Amino acid sequence: MPAAAALSWEAYAGRACYACGKRLTYGAVLVGRAQGHSGAHDLSADVYACP
Ligand SMILES: [Zn+2]
Repeated sequence: MPAAAALSWEAYAGRACYACGKRLTYGAVLVGRAQGHSGAHDLSADVYACP
């Protein structure tokens, strides 16, 4: 699982595959939750991959 800070903005927003960066349209697979934080801010986000 990548760190939240390592994700592209699109992947962080759950709109692109975390592995290849392809835009997700249909059948995206939830692979888990990337953990991250900046000071008091929780930056963790759900991470998706193409099917
Ligand atoms: Zn992919």
